This record gives sequence, structure tokens and C-alpha cells, in this order.
Amino acid sequence: IDFGFENIPESQKASRVRGVFDSVAKNYDLMNDAMSLGIHRVWKNMTMAKLNPQPGERHLDVAGGTGDLARRFIRAADDVRLRRGGEPAQSVICDINAEMLLAGVNASKDAGLNLSRICGDAQALPFPDESFDVVTIAFGIRNVTDRSLALREFYRVLKPGGRLAVLEFSTPPTQWLRKFYDSYSFAVIPPMGQLLANDRDSYQYLVESIRRFPKQAQFAKLVEEAGFSRVGWDDYSGGIAALHTGWKV
Ligand code: SAM
Repeated sequence: IDFGFENIPESQKASRVRGVFDSVAKNYDLMNDAMSLGIHRVWKNMTMAKLNPQPGERHLDVAGGTGDLARRFIRAADDVRLRRGGEPAQSVICDINAEMLLAGVNASKDAGLNLSRICGDAQALPFPDESFDVVTIAFGIRNVTDRSLALREFYRVLKPGGRLAVLEFSTPPTQWLRKFYDSYSFAVIPPMGQLLANDRDSYQYLVESIRRFPKQAQFAKLVEEAGFSRVGWDDYSGGIAALHTGWKV
């Protein structure tokens, strides 16, 4: 990665690099917060409640970014371990963007967690077949070009009996909520992006990509076509987001 820092003194490099990553992470958190009014944190907790992480499980978080979901997974498994014993759970964060991975490295948040990071593409995961008990992807599948290929990869790396959870912005089935959310998104989000991050275009893209994303039933069909069984979804906040789940039997 070229950060363009060749000409600055060695003593200043670390803080300049940290500054870049801080702003990447900050903007990314801001985007999720802006789109969901901060509720993505609740949705992520609901995802964990649905997955019910267990001690000793191996978890892969695809498009895991700064590691929000991976940390939640290990901590939830640890809560169970405190009561029932067992091995710690392990999470691997895989993301195509090395800067996002680096932005998430946080010694205090990572302390004591069995967490690793690897740079890789959801469409060609750098893992052998049947490596994980759980695969998750949160607010990532929307950006993947060939979603069916990625879903087949998730299926390949899961062990038999493994489970998949895909958390993504979705379409409220209720007409008034859909209309309200559409107006809110287009009227509020891009100007908010301009104001907060000086980046209207990325936020405009974000809103458009959410609108283009397949509706719940269409996406569930893709999950089934990739080989998953017991496929279903839960709408969160009236369908502003949805958690799609499936099992490899
Ligand atoms: N999952 C994290 C969360 O919810 O906190 C991060 C979500 S962020 C909105 C989307 C992430 O998807 C980014 O970190 C981006 O680099 C990653 N991404 C986009 N396309 C990808 C791909 N083809 N393979 C792996 N990661 C990808």
C-alpha cells in the first residue's frame, strides 16, 4: 500500500498513518450510524442473539471491516463459556481492504480475544473447505459484484452443520415505512455525508446501492441456490435491515 509518506520524517510516520486509518474508520462508522440512526449496533446484537455463539466455535466474518461483529461473537461465546466452560471461540476477520483491517486494530479492544485478520475477497475466500462453524457478513454483501459466487464460497468454507448469517439494509415491506425511509435516505443522507465527512458522493452511492439491493424474498432465493437449507430471514426495524440465515446440512 502506498500511503505517500516517503518524504516525511520517520518520527512522524506512525502518527500520520494512524491519522489516515482513524479517518477511514471514523467515516465508515459515521456511514453506518447515519443510515441506521445508530441502530446498526442493536441489529448486530440481535444477530448475535440469533446465532447463539458457542465456546470453541470457529467464526469467519467476511467484509468484517474494523471487527465489530467478530468481537461481539467471541464475547457472546465467552459469556456461555463462563457458565458452562469450554474452549474460547475464534474469529477470523476477512476484508478486501487492508486499510479497514488495520483501522480496526485496537490493542485494548482486542486484548484477550482470539481474533485474526486476513485480507481477502468474499468471492475467492483464502480458506480451505469446511473450515468454519459460522460465517457472517454484515453490510458487506451489497458491495460484492457476484453475490451468488460469494454465497457459494460461504457454503464451501462452512463445516457441515454450519450456519450463515447475512445482515444487510433491506426493504421495509410496509408501504408507509418504505416511503418514509426512501424520502429520509435521499433527502437527508447525502447532505449529512457532505456535512459530516465532506463526501456527498459516497453517501449518495450508499443510498442508491441500498435501493438496488434485492428484496428479502429474492435474496433468500440466492441463498438457497447456493446450497443452503432452512433459509429464512428476520426483518429488523420494520425491514430497514434484514438478517438472512441458512444452514449447511
Ligand atoms: N462488516 C463490518 C461492519 O458491519 O461493521 C463492515 C461493513 S463496511 C460497510 C463494508 C466492508 O465490506 C468494507 O470494509 C469493505 O472493504 C468490505 N468489502 C467490500 N467488498 C468486499 C469483498 N468483495 N470481499 C471482502 N470484503 C469486501
